Amino acid sequence: MTLSDKDSLTAELEPVAVSALQHVSYCPRQYALIHLEQVFDENVFTLRGQAAHKRVDRATQRSERGIKLLRGLNIFSDKFGFVGKADVVEILPDGSFFPVEYKLGKHRAKNHDELQLAAQALCLEEMTGKSVPKGAIFHVESHQRREVKINKTLRKSVLQTIQEIRTIQQQDTLPPPVNDKRCRNCSLIELCQPALLDTLTEKSDTAWQEIFDDKK
Ligand code: SF4
Repeated sequence: MTLSDKDSLTAELEPVAVSALQHVSYCPRQYALIHLEQVFDENVFTLRGQAAHKRVDRATQRSERGIKLLRGLNIFSDKFGFVGKADVVEILPDGSFFPVEYKLGKHRAKNHDELQLAAQALCLEEMTGKSVPKGAIFHVESHQRREVKINKTLRKSVLQTIQEIRTIQQQDTLPPPVNDKRCRNCSLIELCQPALLDTLTEKSDTAWQEIFDDKK
Protein backbone atom coordinates (compact mmCIF):
# COMPACT_ATOMS: atom_id res chain seq x y z
CA MET A 1 0.00 0.00 0.00
CA THR A 2 1.20 3.54 -0.72
CA LEU A 3 0.26 6.92 0.65
CA SER A 4 -1.99 7.48 -2.37
CA ASP A 5 -4.11 4.42 -1.50
CA LYS A 6 -6.49 6.35 0.65
CA ASP A 7 -9.86 4.83 -0.23
CA SER A 8 -10.56 3.26 3.13
CA LEU A 9 -8.64 5.82 5.13
CA THR A 10 -10.46 9.02 4.40
CA ALA A 11 -12.75 11.33 6.17
CA GLU A 12 -16.00 9.90 4.84
CA LEU A 13 -15.57 7.53 7.75
CA GLU A 14 -15.45 8.53 11.42
CA PRO A 15 -12.47 10.79 12.11
CA VAL A 16 -9.67 9.03 13.94
CA ALA A 17 -8.10 10.73 16.96
CA VAL A 18 -4.34 10.88 16.57
CA SER A 19 -4.03 9.38 20.05
CA ALA A 20 -5.96 6.31 18.85
CA LEU A 21 -2.87 5.04 17.04
CA GLN A 22 -0.96 4.48 20.26
CA HIS A 23 -4.02 2.89 21.89
CA VAL A 24 -4.75 0.42 19.08
CA SER A 25 -1.10 -0.52 18.71
CA TYR A 26 -0.95 -1.20 22.48
CA CYS A 27 -4.20 -3.20 22.55
CA PRO A 28 -7.02 -3.16 19.95
CA ARG A 29 -9.59 -3.66 22.70
CA GLN A 30 -8.24 -0.66 24.60
CA TYR A 31 -8.71 1.47 21.48
CA ALA A 32 -12.30 0.25 21.03
CA LEU A 33 -13.22 0.82 24.68
CA ILE A 34 -11.81 4.35 24.76
CA HIS A 35 -12.69 5.62 21.29
CA LEU A 36 -15.82 3.66 20.32
CA GLU A 37 -17.43 2.87 23.68
CA GLN A 38 -16.26 6.17 25.22
CA VAL A 39 -15.14 4.32 28.34
CA PHE A 40 -12.23 5.79 30.17
CA ASP A 41 -10.97 5.10 33.63
CA GLU A 42 -8.25 6.81 35.60
CA ASN A 43 -5.33 5.06 37.16
CA VAL A 44 -2.04 6.27 38.52
CA PHE A 45 -0.47 6.12 35.04
CA THR A 46 -3.23 8.13 33.31
CA LEU A 47 -3.30 10.72 36.11
CA ARG A 48 0.46 11.18 35.94
CA GLY A 49 0.22 11.33 32.15
CA GLN A 50 -2.41 14.05 32.35
CA ALA A 51 -0.23 16.03 34.73
CA ALA A 52 2.63 15.72 32.27
CA HIS A 53 0.44 17.07 29.47
CA LYS A 54 -1.15 19.86 31.52
CA ARG A 55 1.35 22.50 30.52
CA VAL A 56 1.34 21.67 26.82
CA ASP A 57 -2.42 21.19 26.47
CA ARG A 58 -3.14 24.92 26.64
CA ALA A 59 -2.85 26.59 23.23
CA THR A 60 -0.02 29.14 23.49
CA GLN A 61 2.76 30.53 21.34
CA ARG A 62 6.16 31.82 22.28
CA SER A 63 9.72 31.93 21.00
CA GLU A 64 12.89 30.47 22.49
CA ARG A 65 16.32 30.92 20.90
CA GLY A 66 14.86 31.69 17.48
CA ILE A 67 12.46 28.72 17.58
CA LYS A 68 8.75 29.47 17.68
CA LEU A 69 6.86 27.08 19.98
CA LEU A 70 3.19 26.33 19.39
CA ARG A 71 1.69 24.44 22.31
CA GLY A 72 -1.60 22.53 22.20
CA LEU A 73 -1.99 23.03 18.46
CA ASN A 74 -5.15 21.57 16.88
CA ILE A 75 -4.17 19.38 13.95
CA PHE A 76 -6.05 17.42 11.28
CA SER A 77 -5.66 15.49 8.06
CA ASP A 78 -8.60 15.19 5.67
CA LYS A 79 -6.57 12.76 3.60
CA PHE A 80 -6.20 10.26 6.44
CA GLY A 81 -9.21 11.29 8.52
CA PHE A 82 -7.16 12.36 11.56
CA VAL A 83 -8.00 14.95 14.18
CA GLY A 84 -6.05 15.75 17.30
CA LYS A 85 -3.84 18.05 19.24
CA ALA A 86 -0.05 18.29 19.09
CA ASP A 87 1.64 18.87 22.45
CA VAL A 88 4.30 21.13 20.94
CA VAL A 89 5.12 22.07 17.37
CA GLU A 90 8.39 23.91 16.86
CA ILE A 91 8.84 26.20 13.89
CA LEU A 92 12.57 26.18 13.25
CA PRO A 93 14.51 29.18 11.89
CA ASP A 94 14.44 27.66 8.36
CA GLY A 95 10.59 27.59 8.53
CA SER A 96 10.30 23.82 8.92
CA PHE A 97 7.86 22.25 11.36
CA PHE A 98 8.98 19.82 14.08
CA PRO A 99 6.41 18.06 16.32
CA VAL A 100 7.33 17.12 19.90
CA GLU A 101 5.16 14.62 21.78
CA TYR A 102 5.36 14.63 25.60
CA LYS A 103 5.35 11.26 27.33
CA LEU A 104 5.57 10.54 31.00
CA GLY A 105 7.07 7.07 30.86
CA LYS A 106 10.28 5.65 29.54
CA HIS A 107 11.11 4.78 25.93
CA ARG A 108 8.74 1.88 25.21
CA ALA A 109 10.04 -1.21 23.46
CA LYS A 110 7.37 -1.01 20.77
CA ASN A 111 6.65 1.95 18.55
CA HIS A 112 3.29 3.11 20.04
CA ASP A 113 4.55 6.65 20.70
CA GLU A 114 6.37 6.91 17.38
CA LEU A 115 3.14 6.08 15.54
CA GLN A 116 1.36 8.94 17.27
CA LEU A 117 4.22 11.31 16.44
CA ALA A 118 4.24 10.20 12.79
CA ALA A 119 0.47 10.80 12.54
CA GLN A 120 1.09 14.33 13.81
CA ALA A 121 3.76 14.78 11.14
CA LEU A 122 1.31 13.64 8.43
CA CYS A 123 -1.24 16.17 9.71
CA LEU A 124 1.34 18.98 9.70
CA GLU A 125 2.46 18.07 6.17
CA GLU A 126 -1.11 18.36 4.93
CA MET A 127 -1.79 21.56 6.89
CA THR A 128 1.41 23.35 5.87
CA GLY A 129 2.32 21.77 2.53
CA LYS A 130 5.84 21.23 3.90
CA SER A 131 7.65 17.99 4.45
CA VAL A 132 8.05 16.95 8.11
CA PRO A 133 10.92 14.44 8.09
CA LYS A 134 11.45 14.23 11.83
CA GLY A 135 10.08 15.03 15.25
CA ALA A 136 10.88 14.16 18.85
CA ILE A 137 9.48 12.42 21.90
CA PHE A 138 10.17 14.20 25.18
CA HIS A 139 10.20 11.93 28.24
CA VAL A 140 9.05 14.22 31.02
CA GLU A 141 10.44 12.39 34.04
CA SER A 142 13.91 11.81 32.62
CA HIS A 143 13.94 15.08 30.59
CA GLN A 144 15.25 12.97 27.76
CA ARG A 145 14.41 14.16 24.27
CA ARG A 146 14.85 11.66 21.50
CA GLU A 147 14.64 12.49 17.84
CA VAL A 148 12.51 10.24 15.62
CA LYS A 149 12.83 10.05 11.84
CA ILE A 150 9.45 9.98 10.13
CA ASN A 151 10.73 7.49 7.60
CA LYS A 152 8.97 5.26 5.07
CA THR A 153 8.71 2.33 7.46
CA LEU A 154 7.01 4.44 10.13
CA ARG A 155 4.67 6.05 7.58
CA LYS A 156 3.69 2.60 6.32
CA SER A 157 3.03 1.47 9.90
CA VAL A 158 0.73 4.48 10.36
CA LEU A 159 -1.29 3.45 7.30
CA GLN A 160 -1.51 -0.16 8.49
CA THR A 161 -2.65 1.04 11.89
CA ILE A 162 -5.36 3.27 10.39
CA GLN A 163 -6.59 0.28 8.41
CA GLU A 164 -6.70 -1.77 11.60
CA ILE A 165 -8.77 1.01 13.21
CA ARG A 166 -11.13 1.14 10.22
CA THR A 167 -11.63 -2.64 10.45
CA ILE A 168 -12.46 -2.45 14.17
CA GLN A 169 -14.84 0.47 13.53
CA GLN A 170 -16.81 -1.69 11.10
CA GLN A 171 -17.10 -4.71 13.41
CA ASP A 172 -20.13 -5.29 15.62
CA THR A 173 -18.16 -6.70 18.52
CA LEU A 174 -15.23 -5.46 20.56
CA PRO A 175 -11.82 -7.02 19.91
CA PRO A 176 -11.06 -9.83 22.38
CA PRO A 177 -8.91 -9.08 25.44
CA VAL A 178 -5.17 -9.59 25.07
CA ASN A 179 -5.00 -10.77 28.70
CA ASP A 180 -1.22 -10.53 29.03
CA LYS A 181 1.28 -8.31 30.82
CA ARG A 182 -0.04 -5.24 28.99
CA CYS A 183 -3.17 -5.43 31.15
CA ARG A 184 -1.21 -4.74 34.35
CA ASN A 185 -0.62 -1.11 33.38
CA CYS A 186 -3.96 -0.56 31.67
CA SER A 187 -6.43 1.78 33.36
CA LEU A 188 -9.32 -0.19 31.90
CA ILE A 189 -8.52 -3.52 33.57
CA GLU A 190 -11.46 -3.35 36.02
CA LEU A 191 -13.93 -2.51 33.27
CA CYS A 192 -12.41 -4.87 30.74
CA GLN A 193 -12.00 -7.95 33.01
CA PRO A 194 -9.61 -9.64 30.55
CA ALA A 195 -8.95 -12.78 32.66
CA LEU A 196 -12.64 -13.38 33.32
CA LEU A 197 -13.56 -12.95 29.66
CA ASP A 198 -10.82 -15.34 28.63
CA THR A 199 -12.13 -17.95 31.07
CA LEU A 200 -15.71 -17.52 29.83
CA THR A 201 -14.59 -17.85 26.21
CA GLU A 202 -12.63 -21.00 27.05
CA LYS A 203 -15.66 -22.43 28.89
CA SER A 204 -18.01 -21.68 26.04
CA ASP A 205 -15.55 -23.24 23.56
CA THR A 206 -15.51 -26.39 25.72
CA ALA A 207 -19.33 -26.43 25.91
CA TRP A 208 -19.63 -26.20 22.13
CA GLN A 209 -17.02 -28.92 21.72
CA GLU A 210 -19.01 -31.19 24.08
CA ILE A 211 -22.23 -30.59 22.14
CA PHE A 212 -20.38 -31.28 18.91
CA ASP A 213 -18.81 -34.48 20.31
CA ASP A 214 -22.24 -35.74 21.54
CA LYS A 215 -23.60 -35.52 18.01
CA LYS A 216 -20.88 -37.67 16.53
S1 SF4 B 1 -7.16 -4.65 30.29
FE1 SF4 B 1 -5.85 -5.69 28.77
S2 SF4 B 1 -7.25 -6.49 27.23
FE2 SF4 B 1 -8.37 -4.96 28.44
S3 SF4 B 1 -8.14 -3.08 27.29
FE3 SF4 B 1 -6.52 -3.11 28.81
S4 SF4 B 1 -4.73 -4.04 27.78
FE4 SF4 B 1 -6.55 -4.48 26.54
